[in-house]
Amino acid sequence: SDHHLDYPISPAHMDWSKNYPMHFAPKDGEGDENSVTQDSGKKVEFADIGCGYGGLLVALSTVFPDKLMLGMEIRVKVEEYVNQKILALRKKHPGSYDNASILRMNAMKFLPNFFEKHQLSKLFFLFPDPHFKKRKHKARIITPTLLSEYAYVLRPGGIIYTISDVKELHLWMVKHLDAHPLFVRIPDEELVGDLAVEHVRNATEEGQKVERNKGDKYLACYRRITDDE
Ligand code: SAM
Repeated sequence: SDHHLDYPISPAHMDWSKNYPMHFAPKDGEGDENSVTQDSGKKVEFADIGCGYGGLLVALSTVFPDKLMLGMEIRVKVEEYVNQKILALRKKHPGSYDNASILRMNAMKFLPNFFEKHQLSKLFFLFPDPHFKKRKHKARIITPTLLSEYAYVLRPGGIIYTISDVKELHLWMVKHLDAHPLFVRIPDEELVGDLAVEHVRNATEEGQKVERNKGDKYLACYRRITDDE
């Protein structure tokens, strides 16, 4: 349940200093001796929706050391686990992993409370819950309404990555993304040089499980195009 989730009334109200203490000064000025006193000027650019145990964040953190990335996860225990994992990595490798963090939230709600229009350059939906039953389809993380929200927080030229081992869900995501006026599919051959794709396939815990079970992985990536403005 998400009855007790905190969310900022607008992105400007969000205090990111707990997630990225090397990049944001505490909004209330009450940091400890380790807090930075000035923001680095960076903003979160990558969001991993339903990030689970955080394998993608850990992998991409060192591939894109100058980008801030955030996992969003609804399960309390999972959020705590990933948080501890990242803190341990920061301790073990000083200067690394300061750009990766996780937030407990329901990503189907309040996304625009956290991110400004066009703030993000990459959005990841890796092995999302399939919700097989027809009456549960509205609980899927890709729907026409949510896609408009994703288009709002994603900048023109930004990319949505989706992958699933469930063909039916893959076809559902493709159907809705194809139908949306602000997204165009990126042909597989154009993804060859994309540094994120290999990790999208293999870095997450779910992706590794599918690999062990020799399951299929259906990838579909879309570019957010420039709109009407
Ligand atoms: N992406 C991860 C991976 O590839 O290993 C996790 C995949 S797991 C099948 C789906 C995850 O999405 C779960 O951890 C679940 O708790 C999370 N989730 C489901 N609905 C969510 C929501 N509305 N907001 C945030 N997280 C959600």
